[in-house]
Amino acid sequence: MSLSLVWDGRPHFFESRSKRGGAVHHNARLVKRVQSHIHLVCFEVLGAEPIHYAILKVARNADEIDALEKEAFLYENQLKSIRGKYVPEYYGIYHGEVRGSQVACMLLEYCVGERIPSDERNRKIMLAACAVHAAGLEHCDLLSGHNLIMSGKDVKIVDFGNAIPHRCHNGTPTLHPGRGGRLDGCRELMDLEAAYGVFSGNAFPEPTPFTMNPFAEGNPFHVFARRVVDMIKP
Ligand SMILES: [Zn+2]
Repeated sequence: MSLSLVWDGRPHFFESRSKRGGAVHHNARLVKRVQSHIHLVCFEVLGAEPIHYAILKVARNADEIDALEKEAFLYENQLKSIRGKYVPEYYGIYHGEVRGSQVACMLLEYCVGERIPSDERNRKIMLAACAVHAAGLEHCDLLSGHNLIMSGKDVKIVDFGNAIPHRCHNGTPTLHPGRGGRLDGCRELMDLEAAYGVFSGNAFPEPTPFTMNPFAEGNPFHVFARRVVDMIKP
């Protein structure tokens, strides 16, 4: 795969080191800078209107290129099954030269969000976070919220530059222990649950026998409550 990118009015040629994708070639043009390393580009067909927008993430020195290659590896492997649903679609990483310097750039889906109610947004944040953990990664920079973006009516998680391999023991999207779950299983999901989960915005209810009905079916505290009731039995 290769990419011709019009940058500063001049075409630059980038090549993918992956053998997958065969001889596919893309023409793209820089539309605008979004952040220091993030640009909006459009793919073009000769003589036609722009047909497709994408996000171009650029690395300009050895450390940045190394980090971008690691992130691309995650999109190609651990995140592959949830791309386009809980993380952006990924179109490849390309290497080339701009003004005599080595540059790498990664093409990702351009996401345009819609407004949805905040409780629904929070629910989708937890689903996306749990999906990333189930895929085997801890993101390590989700609480600030700036790596959570809207894509249509869905939430997608971006920027896996700090992500680490992770075996999650607590992928249930609420804080209750569940059947066989562990309250101390996963710090990132527990922190997210406090910020975006079903009790966000409210004081987290204390697990006392006065605040829960251990016999209610469907009560997320059902199992937890039963344990507390067991504890206070004479
Ligand atoms: Zn986890």
